[in-house]
Amino acid sequence: MLLRCSRPSQPLLRHTDVPQRVTESFILSGYRFPNYSLRECLASAFRPTNETGNFWTHFLAVFVFAFHFLELFGWEGWPSFSDPFFYPFWNYFIGVFLLLMASSMAHLLNSMSLLIREICFFVDYGTISAYTVGSSLAYFYYIHPRAGITALGHHNVTWEVKTVHEGPPLPPPSFSSSPSALPEFHMFFESFYIPSACVVALICTLACCNTRQRWRRHRYIIRTLVFLLPFIVASTPVFYRLLRPSVTSAQSSSFSPGSLGLFFSRHCFWLLVSALFNISKFPERLSPGKFDIWGHSHQWFHCCTFLSILDELHMIKAEIRALALHPALTLPALAPPPLAGPTLYSTYGVMFTLQGCIGAIISWFSWGACRNQGTKAEHLKSQ
Ligand SMILES: [Zn+2]
Repeated sequence: MLLRCSRPSQPLLRHTDVPQRVTESFILSGYRFPNYSLRECLASAFRPTNETGNFWTHFLAVFVFAFHFLELFGWEGWPSFSDPFFYPFWNYFIGVFLLLMASSMAHLLNSMSLLIREICFFVDYGTISAYTVGSSLAYFYYIHPRAGITALGHHNVTWEVKTVHEGPPLPPPSFSSSPSALPEFHMFFESFYIPSACVVALICTLACCNTRQRWRRHRYIIRTLVFLLPFIVASTPVFYRLLRPSVTSAQSSSFSPGSLGLFFSRHCFWLLVSALFNISKFPERLSPGKFDIWGHSHQWFHCCTFLSILDELHMIKAEIRALALHPALTLPALAPPPLAGPTLYSTYGVMFTLQGCIGAIISWFSWGACRNQGTKAEHLKSQ
């Protein structure tokens, strides 16, 4: 071990010199052989390999995201960050933080061994799924058609913002288009939205982990398509809000005209561009070998996914602020009952139960990968 740590940097290799399952399409050089020590992997962050850009594009993103996330708590008169109202927001933070950290670490540490490489990417897929559930929790409590609406005498926002809104006075929210439309979807949102998001997240983790053992030929298309499904499920409150403006959309637009639609369309745009990079393998497809270290599609994929997350964060923050500015609306008698406020069980409980299930799936696939490696090693010995 000491010898391995103290040896000089190992040379970078061509795609023909490493095991085939380590190679990426149209990337011809800059490979690390899968026998690096932990220390060599960490040191390779500062050495131009074909994983260096993949690591930094998601590792630096953690700090940019944390800055924009924590900015919300710096607003004057804002309540404590531990207030139950912020439980979904913190779960969203956990989802994004784990996604960015797991992705950057998977790219950095995957050359320790073939087995660790497999486990790194299983964890990467699991955290992407957990992120979609974190988003769904935030959408449910802040963008849900009835988020922030309270019945007479019931308050689901437990504090009052002391700041005075800057700019022209806010008009009172209008009920003209919403209450009659609310009952249509309230059953879905109340009963099936979060469970659907969790089930889809588990299916996606299973499918993506499977692409590392089977269906390898179409792995990029499968991984991209599989993550379209949670996007569609998670975004239903936004689609609903955009198609059938509700009480809270009136609040939102009174704070920042069209902010929900603007941020959401940018969020979708960056997701679409990231998917195109992931499937097309542009630009390295046009000139194999020229983008081996810098500028290949996976780095652009990382940048675009992060920009989509950033616009999603801005959208959620705008909705939180809109709710805070009109915390105590009332509903007509015939409208559905108010949305229950976030609790530890309905937010952290959901997130950690899901993480436990994802952990079980990852362990199962890791055990399978471990067994495959053992079988291959025995096969080689016997020859
Ligand atoms: Zn990646």
